[in-house]
This record gives sequence, structure tokens and C-alpha cells, in this order.
Amino acid sequence: MNHLLFPSTNFKMKILDIYKNKFSISFEIFPPKDGNCLLLKELEILKSHNPAFVSLTYGAGGQENKSFELITKIQNSGLNVMPHFTCITSSKKNIETHLKNIENMGIKSILALRGDIPEDKELIKHDFHYANELVRFIKEKTDLSIGVAGYPETHIESPDIKTDIENLKRKVDAGADIIFTQLFFDNDKYYKFVERINSVGIDIPVIPGIMPVISEKQILKMTNLARITIPEKLQKGIEKFRNDKKSMIEFGIEYSTAQCEDLINSKVKGLHFFTLNKAFSSSRILDNIRR
Ligand code: FAD
Repeated sequence: MNHLLFPSTNFKMKILDIYKNKFSISFEIFPPKDGNCLLLKELEILKSHNPAFVSLTYGAGGQENKSFELITKIQNSGLNVMPHFTCITSSKKNIETHLKNIENMGIKSILALRGDIPEDKELIKHDFHYANELVRFIKEKTDLSIGVAGYPETHIESPDIKTDIENLKRKVDAGADIIFTQLFFDNDKYYKFVERINSVGIDIPVIPGIMPVISEKQILKMTNLARITIPEKLQKGIEKFRNDKKSMIEFGIEYSTAQCEDLINSKVKGLHFFTLNKAFSSSRILDNIRR
């Protein structure tokens, strides 16, 4: 696969343009609880793979300043940033201010999300109920290119995949440019999802989300929360290496490498890695698929 050169992307490129005619890789990171220094070191490793952008998760509730600070640091290190944003706990006024602020920072793209319903219902602001409303608002108020979330194994609140895809279509009709998927370990789930959404007229790029296995705890947490299937091969590896951290990481790299190679062979437009702020596995997977 050494034809995959991952050419560098213009710092100011919108996600809409990034996937036009070009295979691209990207990384998701989250604002670390303590000290950004370690994260910046990890970013240097990720940067060596010429990502089209780094996406930065958004935690509701007063973390804005911290994430603006981090966005600036990432931009200063020469990387394109796509911040995530969740609307369920924000008022219309706050959202408008937030959008203005990020556009003023030179940001060109955003991942528009509703966010999980908070346990404390008092935190819900009732201006936006679903992500499609946020997408429409961003489209009206800004020049940002918009990404949205898609769920190959159905969003946890949805009664069925058909309803979930109808709701995904609302986001696309409201102006979404790119879909980034929830993590999955069974590529057939992704292929069937793309087939289904194409059949209802959604034809924007669907970028698969890849999460390398790092530990049993991490995988069980993520798959239980979002009801993600663990295929037999993955299950066996997790059981085999549950008491051997190093071998578990190597197994995770091997598993994701095979997953990515299969996706690339099926002509996906990009790969989006959920790095969990650890560059090692994603970096090794990319070295492997370039060999
Ligand atoms: P929506 O698209 O609004 O969907 C939520 C649910 O409501 C779905 O079941 C959908 O079928 C249904 N629905 C949608 N529209 C309608 C409608 N008009 N009428 C009736 N039902 C409707 N969370 C964070 O807190 N921070 C992050 O940074 C973050 N990043 C993420 C990145 C990716 C790639 C993904 C896949 C998820 C991310 N999440 C993040 C998690 C996300 O916030 C949750 O999955 C959340 O529960 C749903 O957000 P959404 O934008 O998909 O919601």
C-alpha cells in the first residue's frame, strides 16, 4: 500500500474540500485533564503522518477556555483543527458566540453534535433538541464546513436502524458535508451502513472511525456504552492477552491494521483514528498500511 502518501493538507482547508479526490487521515484527541505538554508530544508523532486535521472533542460544561487554548496550541504546531461541539446543554446565544469565536480563530470546520442527554436534566437548555437543528443553525450563521456523527450499529437511543438513518438524513439535508462514524470492529457493519444510507439518497463521504484496542477495560467500556459488536477474532485476542499489556497493544495494532487495509481496499475516502491521546498505536497502524 505504499501508494498511500498521505499528502499534507493546507492548514486552512475545510473538511468539505479535504475529501474531494483525496484519501485523508485524521486523528481525534480530547483535552487532557492535566497538562497539555504530554499531548503536544503525542501530536508531534501524529503530525509526522501528515493528517488532514486533528479533531478535538468537546465536553459540555465550562471547558471552553481550556479547549480554545488547546486549539491555539495545536494550530501553532502547524495542524488543521476541527473542534467538536455539542448543543444539548447550550443556549442559542452561547452557541452563536462560540461559533463566532472559533471562526475568529481561523477554524474552517466543526463536528456538530447533540451530545449525550445529561443525567441532571436541569442542565438541558431547550433551544436545540437534536444535531440537525444545530447543523441548520451553523449553516445559517457561519461559513464553517460541517461534520456529523453516524452510527453503523445504530445510535443507542434509536428504536431501529431505519429511524436512525432517517434522522441522519435530516442532518445531511440541513447542510452536513461529511459523516464521521462511531467506532466499529466489524467492517461489514460499516459497508452495510453505507449501502443503506446511499439507498436513501445520502451521498456525502462517510469516514470510518477506527479505535485501536489498547486494553480490555477500554474496549469493554466503549463497546458497552455504545453497543458495539466485538467480533469473535477480537474477543479471542482480548481474552488471550488480558494479562499481558504489551501483547494486547500489539494485537490491537494488528487487528486495526487488517481492518484499515480492508477499508482502504474498498475505497474509503479516509480513516479517522480515535487516538485516546495515545499516538503509539495509530502511528504504528499507519506505518503498517504504508508498507
Ligand atoms: P443526533 O444526531 O441528534 O441523534 C441523537 C438521537 O436522536 C439518535 O438516536 C437519533 O436517531 C435521534 N434523532 C435525531 N434527530 C431526531 C429528530 N429530529 N427527531 C427525533 N429523533 C431524532 N459526545 C460529546 O459529548 N463530545 C464529543 O466531542 C463527541 N464526539 C463524537 C464524535 C463522533 C465521531 C461520534 C460518533 C460521537 C461523538 N460524541 C461526542 C457522542 C455523541 O454526542 C452522542 O452519541 C450523542 O448521544 C448523540 O449525538 P448526535 O450528534 O449523534 O445526535
